[in-house]
Formats: sequence, structure tokens, C-alpha cells
Amino acid sequence: MIATSTLEISSKAYRQNIRYIRKEIGPHPVISAVVKGNAYGHGIAQMVEIAEKAGIRHFSTFSSDEAWEVYNYSKRGSEIMILGMLYLEELEEIIRKGIQFYVFDFQRLDAAIEISKKIGIPARVHIEIETGFHRTGFEWDAREELASKLLENQEFLSVEGLCTHYAGAESVSNFVRVKKQITKYHDFKSYFLERSLLFNKYHTACSAATLIFPETIMDMVRIGIAGYGFWPTKETFFAKLNDLPKGNKNPLKRLITWKSTVMSIKKVKMGEFVGYGNSYMALENISMAIVPVGYGHGYSRLLSNQGTVLIQGQYCQVVGTVTMNTIAVDISKVKNVKIDDEVILIGKQKGKEITVASFSESTQQVNYELLTRLPKDIPRRIIP
Ligand SMILES: *Cc1c(COP(=O)(O)O)cnc(C)c1O
Repeated sequence: MIATSTLEISSKAYRQNIRYIRKEIGPHPVISAVVKGNAYGHGIAQMVEIAEKAGIRHFSTFSSDEAWEVYNYSKRGSEIMILGMLYLEELEEIIRKGIQFYVFDFQRLDAAIEISKKIGIPARVHIEIETGFHRTGFEWDAREELASKLLENQEFLSVEGLCTHYAGAESVSNFVRVKKQITKYHDFKSYFLERSLLFNKYHTACSAATLIFPETIMDMVRIGIAGYGFWPTKETFFAKLNDLPKGNKNPLKRLITWKSTVMSIKKVKMGEFVGYGNSYMALENISMAIVPVGYGHGYSRLLSNQGTVLIQGQYCQVVGTVTMNTIAVDISKVKNVKIDDEVILIGKQKGKEITVASFSESTQQVNYELLTRLPKDIPRRIIP
């Protein structure tokens, strides 16, 4: 079977990103590769393989189904941590397999203790505390009950981590809010320390925090977007620019290339409309290539008359509406386009590039959203 488009994932780019992040954080902290959202669209199976080759042995997922996927593809000894959703029905199996998970309320904590008592295997928990994100996490008021529960059940719990997540570390303008969160985190940490409650790892930083708030780097950093070669926001890049080596080339390299091929070629006379409705009228005689990728493959309808692709190293504009399975692009200025020619939807060709950012600007999606919306059934291929 041949799919109408493929995603190539560069192993080399990942190694470079990890090297850069390692340089930023120093030798001590563990890097946990965040592979939620099908590894930000890159594919869990592919990313686990690439990451392990780059020396990563710790993975973070949002939910238990993703954790099982990582479990199946990873080597023995790689660690898996669930940041979000799991069903209590699955908890026993999760504990048996040594998978670590966030605990942010007493219901989950009690269930973990209960199961651990029953099966005689300690649950590996990361205690998430509320510092200002206001999504999940134990509140400050719960600290006393929490501390005593953790201390009373030491036999059944392996307290792997004390963690929190920042609301807005991607912008320096949120400095005050982030600072408040850091302070709150340290309040919790001191409170527990005073009660001799120690955690294996203290960790708070995502990509943005790691890059622009270095004080958030502790025993582990949870790196999602930067690992895939994207700056969390433009601002994080600009904030970092001055620290970069002279001639400062962007140290983060994108892993992903999305490519398809020319399915058909057609000429349209001046004054004719292209595609559904009348959103595009040829203002002169044009040639078009039809590419077998549409919104059903993750190419947003918002890119109608907006998107660009690369053919023979030249930018070609999407004309007319994006349909479920195809787009039409103007190839009037490109010589000798043939059926089967390579079409780059995202990535580089002959020195030119279509970035995810250029995409997301015209569709109002953030990088994160566009990537994770890439359908799972597009084949992903690792390139060295
Ligand atoms: C998604 C997530 C991360 C990674 O975020 P990036 O911005 O992609 O680095 C880290 N920690 C938690 C709790 C997350 O949910």
C-alpha cells in the first residue's frame, strides 16, 4: 500500500536538539521526552526509537493508552510517566509494569495505595501540586493531609517526584506569574522537607521554562516541543537569541517533513473558477498541479487560497478551496512539472522551506495544534 503523503522524521535533527538542550541544562537533570499527542504528531513508535538512540530513557505521556504504546516500543529500563489521564481500572496493570504517574487528588492517591497493598508492589507516584496553573494539582490547603498520607504509606508508595506545570512560561511578560509559581513550589517543597518527606526528583520545567527561566531546571526537565525542533513561541526564540553563539544559527532543528506527489496536471483558462464555489478565479491562463492531500489528511481548509507548497524548489500557491482529499496549486511559473514529482507540504526542498509556523499563521493554529492534528494513519518514516 502506498499512502498519498508521508511524514519523514529526522533522527539527526533530534540528536542535535537534545545536544542543545543538554548544553542548556548541564549534566545532572534527566530529560524526559514528552510524547503525548502521538509525539506531537511525529508518531510514538518512531519517536521512542529515535529518542532512545539519542540516549533518552524517560518518556512522558498524557494518558495511559499512550503509555502502553511507549511501553510496547521502548527498551526495558526506559521509564514512562503519565502526566494526566488514567482509568482506575487500569491502575493495577500500570503499577505492576512500573509505570509512573501523576497524582493530583486523593481519590487517585487512595486507589494507588489500595492496589499497592493488594499486590505488594509500590506505586511510583509523582505528586503534582497547584501553584497557579489551576488545572490539576493538590492545593496548598491539602498539604497536611497529603504529607501524612505519604508518610504513613511509604511502604506502598515510591515517591518519584514533586512536580508542577507553569502557566505561561512561554512569555517573558508572564515573569511575575511564573515567579509566583516558583515561590509557591518552593513553599510546598520546604513544607515537605520539614517533615522529612523527600522526593526522588523535583521537576517543574517544560521546554519554555527550561529555555527562558533556568531557575526552573531541577532534577528533570519535561521537554516536548523543543525536542521536535520548535520554539514554544517566537518570543522564547527572541529571548534566547542573544545567548546564542555568534552568527547565531537556530540551534533547534525540525524533525518533520511532510511530502506528497503531483497526482495530475491541468490548465485553466483566464476567467474560469477553480474547485468548489467561486473562491478562486484564474486571472490569466494558468497551469495547476493537483496534489492528493486535503483536509481529511490534516491539511486545513483554512489554507484554501492561502497555503503554499514546494515543487521543484519553487513556491506554489494553493488555488481554490482545500477539498477532503486534494488541493490544487498554481504551477504556472515552474518549468517541467511532471506527474509524480515530489511536493513538499512542510519542510525543505532545494534550499527553500515551508515552515509549520507559516502554516499556523494562516490557520490561527499554534505549532502544537497543527502537529498533533496530523492524522495517525499517514505513514511516518525515520530518516537518519
Ligand atoms: C505538555 C507538557 C509538557 C511539555 O511541554 P512543551 O511546551 O511541549 O515542552 C511538560 N509538562 C507537562 C505537565 C505537560 O503537560
